[in-house]
Amino acid sequence: FTLPQVRNEEMLSYAPGSVERKKLQEALAAMRARLEKDGPFEIPVVVNGEQIRTNDVQTQALPFEHKTKLATYHQADAATIKKAIDTALKVRPEWEAMPFNDRAAIFLKAADLLATKYRYEVMAATMLGQGKNAWQAEIDAATELCDFWRFNCHFAAQIYADQPIKNSVTTWNRMEYRPLEGFVLAYSPFNFTAIGGNLVSAPALMGNVVLWKPSPMAMYSNYLVFQILKEAGLPDGVIQFVPGDAADIAKDAFAHPEFAGLHFTGSTGVFKHLWKQIGNNIDKYKSYPRIVGETGGKNMHFLHNSADARNAAMQTIRGAFEYNGQKCSATSRVYVPDNLWEEYSTVLTQEMKKLKQGPVDDFSNFTGSVINEQSYNKITKYVDAIKSGKEPKTKVFLGGNASKKDGYTIEPTVILTENPHATTMKEELFGPVVTVYVYPADQYEETMKIAEDTTPYALTGSLFAQDRAAIVKGTNVLRNAAGNFYVNDKSTGAVVGQQAFGGGRASGTNDKAGSGLNLLRWVSPRTIKETF
Ligand code: GLU
Repeated sequence: FTLPQVRNEEMLSYAPGSVERKKLQEALAAMRARLEKDGPFEIPVVVNGEQIRTNDVQTQALPFEHKTKLATYHQADAATIKKAIDTALKVRPEWEAMPFNDRAAIFLKAADLLATKYRYEVMAATMLGQGKNAWQAEIDAATELCDFWRFNCHFAAQIYADQPIKNSVTTWNRMEYRPLEGFVLAYSPFNFTAIGGNLVSAPALMGNVVLWKPSPMAMYSNYLVFQILKEAGLPDGVIQFVPGDAADIAKDAFAHPEFAGLHFTGSTGVFKHLWKQIGNNIDKYKSYPRIVGETGGKNMHFLHNSADARNAAMQTIRGAFEYNGQKCSATSRVYVPDNLWEEYSTVLTQEMKKLKQGPVDDFSNFTGSVINEQSYNKITKYVDAIKSGKEPKTKVFLGGNASKKDGYTIEPTVILTENPHATTMKEELFGPVVTVYVYPADQYEETMKIAEDTTPYALTGSLFAQDRAAIVKGTNVLRNAAGNFYVNDKSTGAVVGQQAFGGGRASGTNDKAGSGLNLLRWVSPRTIKETF
């Protein structure tokens, strides 16, 4: 294959006075103006290129300004879900037969369209709809999605080129990477526009047809992504855009004999529930469905006594509070040796005072609001329990205030505990709350052993140390605690093509988004031996 050389999409700075800042501000203003004039954007179900409007209409609101509705969207009913499956299966043979170079060209073109023509519009939709600030929208909707599309093409080409290396004189051995026999269902989350784009395009690139159920809270940005794929030449029916009730879609899709795979990012609870449903239907299927999921996290920063305390504190702020802690990879528990606590806590206190919080249209804001009321209620319940003394030996060290007057706003919050098994050291809050446990510096290994098994999750984690022996020891002791392990860097911010992303244990099947390992799950290889 002769693909163009892939590279990471360049990250723009959005510095005051920059061209890109001006363009993004214009896109935000235009989106606001359209909203004001015409009301929320109406999003249909799209099945085989046909826009379908149903009687079940829901809304997507701005998290930081909940009185404003961004979009209304139609939810698929049973007949529409059935039509989506049937028509996808109909277009499947033609899509499978399309040469890989031509399939790849569609996704490469989509990346270029996003990077050049639609960058600011998709970012504006991500900022308003999902409450990201400009930089968080840039690393998601602009760069990461382009990277997924481009690097997947690169990794797919490597897969197709991987052929048996031994043939005897009279034989020719070959490997054919067929798509799965059936359709794939993708459930995507609110917190990354790029993840939705990847969950559908990875199986599609390998020749599969896909039903896409986007998160209700990311509906508008995901719809724009879908439209970019169409503009790039994706044939009708290959990806069906199917907003709807998660349980209804699961019920209908999982009852179908040609259900062939689930590509999921979301909560651990929902993923387990879906897995059980698939298991209950196992006798119905033509093939064993592929189940690929990335779920929760309870990601640690672990400091050794040789760590640079200032750097560790700065990385805590970024890892825990960027995008209000709403990343599966967000830092949510920190282990600090007692000899570093004073410097670490001083830097944390001073730097957190400088953080501004508020609407995303104001570029000076570092954080904003969590995604919705349900999330707000869940997070504040944990913090309130600590404030009212319900959690022994645990207190709010910084922040802790919240308000849902205009948006669902929770202050970046640091909890301090003397109990390494405190509730907020164990459970995922998915918000701007980090819990710190200060340990005796001479108990490095013992404390790591506790940290390794405190939670069921194993998504990301970071070790901070200058001492090489401590780095070797920590990397070894914390071996199973994270699928993405960082040394002297924050637990968030994996870059496609550089750090393939995914975790084990309750955090997912660890099929590494943005890598060939993920793409391999969407093929059913056929070995061919021909004897001459
Ligand atoms: N890949 C993202 C990161 O490394 C996190 C994705 C997620 O939240 O699911 O920060």
